[in-house]
Amino acid sequence: MKKIAILGSTGSIGTQTLEVVRENKDIEVLALSAGSNITLLEKQIREFRPRLAAVWDEEKAKELRLMTADLDVKVATGMDGLVRTAVMEGTEILVTAIVGMIGIRPTIEAIRAGKDIALANKETLVTAGHIIMPLARERDVSILPVDSEHSAIFQSLQGNERKAVRKILLTASGGPFRGKKQEDLLNIRVEDALRHPNWSMGQKITIDSSTMVNKGLEVIEAKWLFDVEVDQIQVVVQPQSIIHSMVEYEDGAVMAQLGTPDMKLPIQYALYYPQRRYLPGERLDFWRLGRLDFEEPDMDTFYALSLAYEAGRAGGTLPTVFNAANELAVRKFLNREIKYLEITEIIEDCMRAHTNIMNPTLEEILETETKVYERIESRR
Ligand code: NDP
Repeated sequence: MKKIAILGSTGSIGTQTLEVVRENKDIEVLALSAGSNITLLEKQIREFRPRLAAVWDEEKAKELRLMTADLDVKVATGMDGLVRTAVMEGTEILVTAIVGMIGIRPTIEAIRAGKDIALANKETLVTAGHIIMPLARERDVSILPVDSEHSAIFQSLQGNERKAVRKILLTASGGPFRGKKQEDLLNIRVEDALRHPNWSMGQKITIDSSTMVNKGLEVIEAKWLFDVEVDQIQVVVQPQSIIHSMVEYEDGAVMAQLGTPDMKLPIQYALYYPQRRYLPGERLDFWRLGRLDFEEPDMDTFYALSLAYEAGRAGGTLPTVFNAANELAVRKFLNREIKYLEITEIIEDCMRAHTNIMNPTLEEILETETKVYERIESRR
């Protein structure tokens, strides 16, 4: 039996991870965690019988303790709960399916405890990649990408020499507003931005996909995962989301991973790597597919992507500013406190106001997040 723990088990990646567990029958789940959705978490506890469940919200944790009083499960809360999930004794792999940079500390603690990481939580690598990657190497821990693009790159790297990589071709669907210009986006509502053409995902990443912030975060994530310069990463719009990403080698060969859009494939690949297993689901039918299209991304309209390149090139705390500003701006947009185009305006404003700190400590990263939040809150 493979033993895992999941941070963010009630979300889109978390529930799909549990579907993979359900299908395979040889994975034991030792710990689960959620923010506040204790109704779903209780169901998951009853089905998968973990020893530990963590809930961020303290009141909800109290309720969950009562709801699961008949079971042999400990309920923890807050950051302590996340860290206990991350370092749970006996687990081999921690799936980081939590959203946002709140995942940094538990991920670092899991690596220190020698757990392999199936990483979906890209915000952690974007902000703390310079801490996480060397630490993982030092502790001989694998960081296995769950993000579909990064899994595709990882799969395209298998059996090839890393030093022969010339370019990473990171594909993007272009999101729901592909082809639109700034003036078309003035009155975008939350419902419009939540309508992704190909993927069903959590709210934050769906908004990020529409602004192309998500692709920007993925560029920085790829820089850390595959040890390349951001300028070796080229974003290619591939609207059907069939090619999940590609690698170009020195000799001009391009290796790609293709498939129908289904996150269970990269999740399962990360959990069983290097093994491949049967996965139920639709297969690609190239006769029916007919064609695939490619475009250059519109970095004038979706200039968050060029801000991400700027942050990725500069390094230091600038990627944290990019990410933290986006996290709060997206929350405000989802709460209907700001307009759609303000998300990227806020990111740019925070980046311009920031004095970069190179090679920041975890404390400096978290202080930068606080300062960014204060700046955004003091607007107007
Ligand atoms: P969701 O919003 O669907 O799920 C987020 C999960 O994190 C939920 O379980 C949520 O709990 C939990 N959570 C949120 N805040 C806290 C907190 N303070 N403490 C503990 N748990 C918390 O997100 P996704 O699954 O879409 O995304 C998760 C990560 O994976 C993101 O970093 C995203 O970028 C990345 N990713 C997602 C993909 C997708 O297809 N969805 C694809 C590739 C990457 P609760 O339900 O209780 O709120």
